[in-house]
This record gives sequence, C-alpha cells and structure tokens, in this order.
Amino acid sequence: MISVAEATQIVIENSMSLPDEMVPLNLAVGRVLQGCLEADRDFPPFDRVSMDGIAIKFEKFESGQRMFYIENVQAAGAPKLALQDDECCIEVMTGAMLPKGTDTVIRYEDLDVHEAERIVGINTLDVKPGQNIHRQGSDRTKYDEIVPSYTLISPAEIGVAATIGHAKLRVAGLPRVCVLSSGDELVEVDEVPLPHQIRKSNVHVMAAVLSTWGIVADLLHLPDDPAAIEATLGDCLEKYDVLLMSGGVSMGKFDHIPAALERLGVWQLFHKVSQRPGKPFWFGRSKQVVVFAFPGNPVSSFMCLHRYFRPWLRVSQGLDPIDYQYAVLAEDYFFKPELTYFLQVKLASGQDGRLLATPVTGQGSGDLANLVDADAFIELPLERQQFRAGEAFPVWKFR
Ligand code: AMP
Ligand code: MG
Repeated sequence: MISVAEATQIVIENSMSLPDEMVPLNLAVGRVLQGCLEADRDFPPFDRVSMDGIAIKFEKFESGQRMFYIENVQAAGAPKLALQDDECCIEVMTGAMLPKGTDTVIRYEDLDVHEAERIVGINTLDVKPGQNIHRQGSDRTKYDEIVPSYTLISPAEIGVAATIGHAKLRVAGLPRVCVLSSGDELVEVDEVPLPHQIRKSNVHVMAAVLSTWGIVADLLHLPDDPAAIEATLGDCLEKYDVLLMSGGVSMGKFDHIPAALERLGVWQLFHKVSQRPGKPFWFGRSKQVVVFAFPGNPVSSFMCLHRYFRPWLRVSQGLDPIDYQYAVLAEDYFFKPELTYFLQVKLASGQDGRLLATPVTGQGSGDLANLVDADAFIELPLERQQFRAGEAFPVWKFR
C-alpha cells in the first residue's frame, strides 16, 4: 500500500496536455490563460480627468485668480479641446481628455457657480498642481505584460482582457470526462428503490463538483457483471480522456473493475492508498486515457475527487498541483489507525484571522448526510495518533 504523498506524485506525473481552446469572456472565469495579456496602449491611454469640475492652468490659481469664465465643455468621449484664453477654464467631466493648455482639475464641490453658470469661483485654498488627473501611462505602459500566462482567470483578469480588446481568450483545454457508477444495488434518482436498493448519489455529487471546475461530465452506469463492465468500459476508453469511477474496486466478490480494466489494456499504477476514507482507490491509465477508480462510499469518492483529481486537473492545465491552505484544529483529536486521516470539519474564521476547523466526524465513509454539516477535510498525517487543538493542517475545502 502506498502513501498519500506517493499516490499524489503518481497521479500528477500522469497529467495530460490538453489542447488549448478559445472561449468568450463570459465563459472564461475559472479557466487557465494560455499566453500573456499585454497592454495594447498605455493605461490610461490619455491624461484622463478623474473628477467632474473645471480644468485650469495652475499658474493662474497660484497668482491669485479665483474667478474663471467657462470657455467650453470637455465631455467624456469627445476629442481633446484646447483652452483658448489662459484666464478662462474648461468645464470637464470624469473620463474626458484633459484639455490642451490646462494642468489642474478642480471638482464641482470646491466651486461656486455665478451668472447663469458661465462663471465659477473657486472656494478652497487647497488646490495642488496636477490634481484630479489620472496621467497617461501611470498605471501600465504599452506592451507591459499585465497578466502572465497560466493565470487562473478571475473577474479581475476579464477586465484587463476587455480593456485590451480580447473578446475571446486562449485557455487550457478541459478533459472529456465520464463519471461511472457501479453496483447492482443502485437505481436512478427518479426511481423508487426496493428495500435492498438505494438511489445513486455519488455520481451526481461528482458531476456537481466537476461543474464547479468547468467540466460537464457524462454519466454512465456499470452493473456488477464482468461482461457488461468490459463492454461499457471498452466504449468509454474510445470516447473520453478521463474516467472517474466509483465503486467496484474493493475486496468484495463483485468488485470486478480492476480486472476488467486490465483486460482492456489499462495498466494499474496503484491500488490502495494508506488513507481513510478512500483506501481502495485504484489508479491507472491506457495510452490515451487516465482512470481514477474511487471506492463507492460517498464520502470516499467525494474526498478522493478533491484530493487527487483536482491536482491532476490543475497540473494538466499548467498550474501548480496543489494550492495549499491550512486550518487550525479547534479541539484535540485522536485517530489511531496508521492511515492518513481526512477528517471532516466545519470551518469558521476566528477573530485572530485564523481559520478554525471543528471536527464533524460522522458515521464513516457511507454517511453522506454528514457532508452537509462539513465544509472541508483536514489532512491528518499517518505517523501520528494525537492531534492538538491549535495545530495547523492542510485543508481541502469543498464549499
Ligand atoms: P463499493 O465500493 O462498490 O464496495 O461500494 C461501497 C459502498 O458505496 C456500498 O455501500 C455501495 O452501495 C455504495 N455506493 C456505491 N456507488 C454508489 C453511488 N453511486 N451512490 C451511492 N452509494 C454508492
Ligand atoms: Mg459495489
């Protein structure tokens, strides 16, 4: 049996390079940028008025002039005007070009308006040369790299892309994923189970998690029958990049999946990880397809998807495998078996800014209702049994 660290290493060594695609801005959040975003002009592209008011030549204010005749109005979106007479001013709007011959903007709040709005008086002494002007190129200059390649795109990056005129972005591709349930006890969500049956839940959970990562997965089912398993899996190996399975990989009499996969030319890279939940996790690949076969218990498949598939996906998109985050255990915890334990926790932000993790242990890996009470798993290392309140551990958030 291998450790969680070894399993992680093997999983990420088997990442895939996925062909890039172009996506419109409204679908780009959560994707990984391919190629950097460069400024196509200065930011801002001209000396931009940043307050509604008047533009003057500062020299005139400095020499004592307080009353200014409004010579013209410079609107946002209009070509640059020029001040004709230094003793006058031009009324200016936020977003307008600073008129030629002016160098300082005084906001309406510091003005009194006289004579049918043709003359204004400055009612403050607090005027600094160059104020209320957002200077051309003061944020970024033309050709600056603003967003580096391999950035995980958030709304902030969308603003930059739009500003530089990219209606679409080149992003890392996503794998074609099939999520497979297995087991003769399972019926569909819209069916009424007999006493010995249950409705499928964890494939829907897995598809839902994948959707938060931008993946629209297909769902299929494998009965506990070796011939049917082989036929369906054979088909899937032609159509998908990744198979995510749940169930059928433990030690039970009807756990036929590993043998079927091997008959189809998918070689095993490991089977069983020293962890709880999810110990029977099987991982393998064919030439083209990577196969994550998670145990069927709902908490196991849920945890394994976050702990193993997510790093695989991140590396396949060009990101670091793991975006480590830590939480502090809120109370002492004891776990005896020599396994890495993924403890379900409720998270709360303490007043000291630390993330506090309170255990919500539940009834084991079959207790899917317990996940509703939890926000995350914290990863407790295998070599220890006693974990103290106040100690920090890696946290895998799912909410
Ligand atoms: P297995 O890994 O096939 O031994 O399954 C372990 C447990 O998980 C069994 O109690 C199964 O009934 C249950 N299980 C397997 N697949 C699902 C599923 N898709 N939804 C809910 N429970 C499942
Ligand atoms: Mg089963």
